[in-house]
Amino acid sequence: MNQRITDPLSARLRRVPRTQYVLGGMALLLSALLLWASWIVLSDRYMGALANRASVRSTLYANAIESVLKTYTVASALLAQDMLLLSALTGAPSQQTRLTLGGVQSTIGALSLSLYTASGTLVADTQQGDDKINHGIAPYFQLALDQDISVFATVAISESEQRFYFARRIQQSGTILGVAVIEVDLAGLQGEWVASEDQVFVTNAEDLILLSSRAEWRYRSLSPFLDPLSAQGSGRFALLPMLSLDPSRAGPQVAIDDEVFLRIDREVDFRGWTVTYLAPTSEVNERVTGAIAIEVMAMALLVAFGLYIISRRIARRSLQLQRESEELRALNVRLGSEIEERLRVEQSLQEAEQSLEQSSRLAALGQMSAAVSHELNQPLAAMRTYLAGAQLLMKRNRPEEAMTSFQRIDDLITRMATITNQLKTFARKGGTELAAVDVRRSVMAALAIMAPQIGQNRIEIVRHMPDSPVMVRADTMRLEQVLINLMRNAADAMRGQPDPRITIEVFSGPNLARIQVHDSGPGFKVPAAELFEPFFTTKAPGEGVGLGLAISAGIARDLGGSLNARNASDGGAVFEISLPLLRTPEQGEPDHERAR
Ligand code: ADP
Repeated sequence: MNQRITDPLSARLRRVPRTQYVLGGMALLLSALLLWASWIVLSDRYMGALANRASVRSTLYANAIESVLKTYTVASALLAQDMLLLSALTGAPSQQTRLTLGGVQSTIGALSLSLYTASGTLVADTQQGDDKINHGIAPYFQLALDQDISVFATVAISESEQRFYFARRIQQSGTILGVAVIEVDLAGLQGEWVASEDQVFVTNAEDLILLSSRAEWRYRSLSPFLDPLSAQGSGRFALLPMLSLDPSRAGPQVAIDDEVFLRIDREVDFRGWTVTYLAPTSEVNERVTGAIAIEVMAMALLVAFGLYIISRRIARRSLQLQRESEELRALNVRLGSEIEERLRVEQSLQEAEQSLEQSSRLAALGQMSAAVSHELNQPLAAMRTYLAGAQLLMKRNRPEEAMTSFQRIDDLITRMATITNQLKTFARKGGTELAAVDVRRSVMAALAIMAPQIGQNRIEIVRHMPDSPVMVRADTMRLEQVLINLMRNAADAMRGQPDPRITIEVFSGPNLARIQVHDSGPGFKVPAAELFEPFFTTKAPGEGVGLGLAISAGIARDLGGSLNARNASDGGAVFEISLPLLRTPEQGEPDHERAR
């Protein structure tokens, strides 16, 4: 029983509304969309910021290098007019000249300063170390002699080292006296780039990387370019190693060795030089990833909070359901014990009824015995008197008169037999075998049995019965027993009444056969149901025990029908037996036959 109650409750607990799944799915989709949109917007924004910064930085770098180169261009031009150098070229070279050069070098911040005669002979220089370069034989020396401009030259010392020079001729009154060569300090600039950790390089007009913040990029080429160093060793030129800037990326992005950069080029106003600034996009990715991670965390927190709220609600609901279930269980237990209690009471009631019935039966038996002995004692006493009278008459030899007494005795014996017969009728259980019985025959049989009483009380019998048989499935004996009982009750009810009459009507169909016993007596004063209560009787002790109707109703019930009583509107009581009709032969109007 408990199982029956807990099942729907647990089912209610387990039930998750479909809308929750739909909402969950939508939330998931929305979150994914939000993350995707954030990714795009943030990537865009950070990339924009990176481009701005790169643009500013590249301009700074371009300006810085431009200003340095311009400074040296101007310095070299000024140097060509320096009187000290002129006098050094016209006079004999001296220690003084070297000192002068040293002074000028430190003033303009050059790495070294060399002074040559027009024929390429070194007058004085400030170059240090063993790897001094003889500029007098370099191609740019000739170029400087030929033009009145500052000639710029790059000399590759090794694969990672280059030196930068400005050569300028020195002339006086149209006579070319010599050439001054200034070694430019661009390495210092490069050192600053390295320190700044920016990715930047400078290429010349031939796409050769002259300066770079990364040592491994230096002296590499962006496009195929002959390596002058290789020519120096073997006399044959080889291609410079190239730095491959893979442009297969979106927008101005390039990849170098799997590293992706945002590339900003700035032209330097110096011999087609270009500063290329490379801003690693990994920084953008990191920042976007970081922001997305924060978003995901926020969402996760939100989801956790939502789940917490839902779980609390579920817990509350389950607690409530549990409480309800416990209440139901308690109610169930209470109901169970109440049912048990009721069953116990019913059983004890039954037992009480049984014992009451037992004692009632015994009482009825007593009453019946009294009635029977009363009924039989009277004719016995009369018989004794008649017998004594007959004996006397025989002794006096008056046999004719004695015969009359004997006749009376015979009458009395007949009466006693009738009484015992009636008692026997009641006592009969009847056969258990049911058979097709014509109700009309049963009525006739009952009337025959009742004939003495009917005659005695001068009762008028009126019969209304169909012409054709009215068949029911019944036990003849018991059906007759019921009819006799009803007729006897009718006769009893009309006792002492003038013009007693019993009307017996048999109706057939459509489904039931009905037998009505209608008397002209006073009717009954109690509710009809009470008449059928066992031992209900209004008759004097010895005349009735109140079992007749109860037994009759029981028999009618056994035969699948019923017995009912009512007071007729024109007076008297009507008792009606209804039994299921076995078959309906041609039904006719009940015939109206009278018998007395
Ligand atoms: P009994 O005849 O021994 O009293 P019944 O069960 O046959 O027992 O009848 C019960 C009671 O029903 C009768 O005592 C009587 O009061 C009432 N009764 C039965 N038949 C009739 C009738 N035809 N008219 C009036 N009362 C009746």
